[in-house]
Amino acid sequence: MAPDDHYDLSSALGKIAILRGSAEYETRRKVWNDTIDRYPSMICACKTTADVQRVIAQVSQLGSAVSVRGGGHNIAGTAVGEDLVMLDLSDMRQVTVNAENRRAWVAGGATFADIDAATQEHGLAVAGGVVSSTGVGGLTLGGGIGWLARRHGLSIDNLLSAKVVLADGQSVEVSDSQNTDLFWALRGGGGNFGVVTAFEFRAHPVGPNVTFGPTFFDLENAETVLRSYAQHSNNLTRNACVWANLMTAPPTPALPAQWHGQKVLILMQFHTGTLKQAQADLAPLYGGVQPLGCALAVRPYMEAQSFLDNAYAFGARNYWRTHNHIELTSDLISMLVNLASKLPTPESELLICQLGGAVQDLSADATAFAHRDVSFISTPGVRWHDAGQDAEMIRWLKHASSRIAAHAAPGAYVNFIAEEDGVSAAYQHHLDRLRGIKHRYDPNNMFRVNQNITPAPPRGSHGPTQRTHNKGD
Ligand code: FAD
Repeated sequence: MAPDDHYDLSSALGKIAILRGSAEYETRRKVWNDTIDRYPSMICACKTTADVQRVIAQVSQLGSAVSVRGGGHNIAGTAVGEDLVMLDLSDMRQVTVNAENRRAWVAGGATFADIDAATQEHGLAVAGGVVSSTGVGGLTLGGGIGWLARRHGLSIDNLLSAKVVLADGQSVEVSDSQNTDLFWALRGGGGNFGVVTAFEFRAHPVGPNVTFGPTFFDLENAETVLRSYAQHSNNLTRNACVWANLMTAPPTPALPAQWHGQKVLILMQFHTGTLKQAQADLAPLYGGVQPLGCALAVRPYMEAQSFLDNAYAFGARNYWRTHNHIELTSDLISMLVNLASKLPTPESELLICQLGGAVQDLSADATAFAHRDVSFISTPGVRWHDAGQDAEMIRWLKHASSRIAAHAAPGAYVNFIAEEDGVSAAYQHHLDRLRGIKHRYDPNNMFRVNQNITPAPPRGSHGPTQRTHNKGD
């Protein structure tokens, strides 16, 4: 951005504009992944939808792009662009719950910790992610997988409406009855279409207690356990969801000390039933192998939701790849266990997330999320602290990923893609339709700091159709 534009913009925006050189600018530009070190031209700390509209209106006059920061968790650092205006929503965190109708209204910069705290007061929960500091905005717009996905679907499957500020500064409502094309695109198309300032979610009775925790297995037995996990997962009750992780054992009292720091397989298990029901339902996954230790226990839902927060805290360098799997084949399992023994740092991992259940109740085209047929997502990840190791770490992970890719199905979950080059993998057969919708709502590609859908007029289009604007916009 030219210096004059920069000056005019900051004086037009007043107090919400935060400029380079201040401590607040430094705090707000930092995202979860420490390998991202970008300097926005200015950070706008928005507190209301009107603030967002004001920034967008000003930036659109300059023909520039913006980045949008929700929880700042995106591995590719898409919350922040070099020399671009950043709309920081992290002060917009209000959550309002209507317990009777089981609805939660959530501001665009809230985290899952905010939602969980507000909904659990009423014995309710919204289907979200497994680390509570993750932003609702980014996670939801990409799909949203977590412990409740098999029971209640993805976060987007529970999204009833949203308020969106478009590239022209107008604020519109989207739902099954208003701006339906945009509503479809937002559910899986990422932050390409506008700034969501409020989400309306369906909430479900969950908790206050659930059965949750890790069970640990020796790497020697990991193939046997993973084969059982692969075989029985799809028949698992929807009350349960189990993610598998090949990693270095933490120093937990649930594990005899001689195993601390050793490579192990962890099944991280969630179940909405009693401990007895959970044990009975989960036993087939173990393949008859005796665990090294187990911390499966009845815990508050809030504790389950934040159990992994420390392991994935801000303040480390990270690189991931992600692969879709319809099934976990024996060859893939052998290879993963082999790779696990070579993980390059104690915080690195080979993670397998489980989908299925309610995620597959909707048709492939019901939303823009393109991966409904996928039963598992593998996400190999390296985590380290020394910038001097960047090249070595990324090389290791890319090599591991290329081996996994040979056993994967097409596509990649947009929220786990580490580089800004995953567009066709992320959106797959929905890409053309998404391009048309992008052309209609953001023809100049103002929202381009993401897995970017470039605008293109729909094939055979005869001009724009009408969209619904709210009164007073
Ligand atoms: P940000 O980096 O702030 O934003 C990500 C993208 O979304 C950006 O392009 C941004 O512009 C856009 N965006 C954010 N908010 C808005 C908004 N209100 N309106 C418009 N655009 C917006 N994913 C899962 O599905 N399940 C998980 O369990 C899960 N666990 C995770 C745990 C960790 C530790 C991490 C780092 C990531 C995890 N993810 C998970 C991936 C997560 O969904 C993505 O990183 C997601 O992009 C994070 O959203 P955010 O708002 O925190 O990130």
